[in-house]
Amino acid sequence: MSRPRKVHIKSFGCQMNVYDSHRMADMLVPAGYTETALASDADLIILNTCNIREKAVDKVYSEIGRINEFKEAAASQGRHILIAVAGCVAQAEGEEIIRRTDAVDLVVGSQNYHRLPDMIARLRAGQSIVNTEFPVENKFDVLAPPARAAIVKRGIVAFVTVQEGCDKFCTFCVVPYTRGAEVSRPVEKIATEVERLAAAGVREVTLIGQNVNAYHGEDNDGQPATLARLLRRLAQIPGIVRLRYTTSHPLDMDDDLIAAHGNLPALMPYVHLPVQSGSDRVLAAMGRKHTRRHYLNVIAQLRAARSDLAFSSDFIVGFPGETEDEFRETLTLVDEVRFAGAYSFAYSSRPGTPAANMEPVPPAECVERLQRLQAAITRHWRAFNTSFVGRNMEVLLEKPGRLSGQLVGKTPYLQTVQVMAQSALIGQIVPVTITGTGTNTLFGTLIEPAYAPAFATDLATAGA
Ligand code: SAM
Ligand code: SF4
Repeated sequence: MSRPRKVHIKSFGCQMNVYDSHRMADMLVPAGYTETALASDADLIILNTCNIREKAVDKVYSEIGRINEFKEAAASQGRHILIAVAGCVAQAEGEEIIRRTDAVDLVVGSQNYHRLPDMIARLRAGQSIVNTEFPVENKFDVLAPPARAAIVKRGIVAFVTVQEGCDKFCTFCVVPYTRGAEVSRPVEKIATEVERLAAAGVREVTLIGQNVNAYHGEDNDGQPATLARLLRRLAQIPGIVRLRYTTSHPLDMDDDLIAAHGNLPALMPYVHLPVQSGSDRVLAAMGRKHTRRHYLNVIAQLRAARSDLAFSSDFIVGFPGETEDEFRETLTLVDEVRFAGAYSFAYSSRPGTPAANMEPVPPAECVERLQRLQAAITRHWRAFNTSFVGRNMEVLLEKPGRLSGQLVGKTPYLQTVQVMAQSALIGQIVPVTITGTGTNTLFGTLIEPAYAPAFATDLATAGA
């Protein structure tokens, strides 16, 4: 008797890849595949890749080498494992991947994975396939919706891609080349997807896009909707108690979205707003099209709409030509905004981008600047977390913790909280007193409902 086919998908990089991986798994269900967490047990292994930095690409090639060992071991027992490379490395490198290693059977770009079942059938018939063109059809129109069981397994927090691609062409970035031009999904298609998630128990949704606040999907009246309008529509869906969005660009932070932070309760008070540098000269060389002053103005407007907002950001240090004084402007910006968290990267030269032709900063200087920046970011992040000790917070309980009887949840500011609570409370927002901080977590105790009337959660009205 033939055993059911199994697929193992490994995601690299951003949340958009995690979302794409889920949709690939959903797409393969009708073709008879179930997901497995074990690569060695799979008939099909998909690496869903990222090429934003050189290191990310190196990781993919070393992973191909590792899984090829499973492939060879299985082959010696007469079992054929297929290896597919998907995502941004596939998009950028195309046939080069198959030229570089014969372990890979299939290369599928970011816009073509809806064709996976068909490509796999052709592969099984003996062809190796590279498909990285930008197709005429929109993959979102043909992707299979997730089964209820798959949604439940993925948990009560979900990510939904609402916008893809980027037209900004920052001089360091490969995204406009790998993901293509900006495309937004229509409001009602997104609402239908979120309704389905909510019906299966999802409570928090993060809307994702490479440039999510440039969202301009078609609304019911045929007109483009803003991200704020989309958020208001989704907040009406029963069961959805928290909404977030990422990643946004300072230039696309419009008045409507700023206002939503003041008057849409389901929209969480934590905004990820990448700035990249605190120096106007470097920002101009990066092609960011915003200045330090513009960025600080956006932050001020958001804080005026809601005073308890907290911010995170992305930074690149050692962009070609960055001087020590220009780097210090980044440090002063960090102190001025007091970010609650941030991602920081040493500049990585990407072939084909304009910055790849600029004079690099010596690697040792990049490393030293990155350490100083990370120390500054960590100082603010620790101060932010410590400021909650002794305070009561609303925590959305997500899943069991490592200890028996412990649950893990998130505050509105995306801080992880560990708390002793019954598993029946998973999916609920509960009041928690924060008692301490750990390396990457807060610790808290559940406040009994009788003592916390102000925190009573009404799922149906949270988005009103
Ligand atoms: N659209 C977002 C924005 O405008 O900032 C960023 C999306 S990008 C996928 C995520 C982050 O990767 C960027 O914010 C940037 O900090 C970092 N990044 C992109 N290209 C990079 C490069 N060549 N070297 C180092 N970091 C890079
Ligand atoms: Fe890349 Fe973001 Fe710039 Fe677009 S806006 S090119 S995704 S860094």
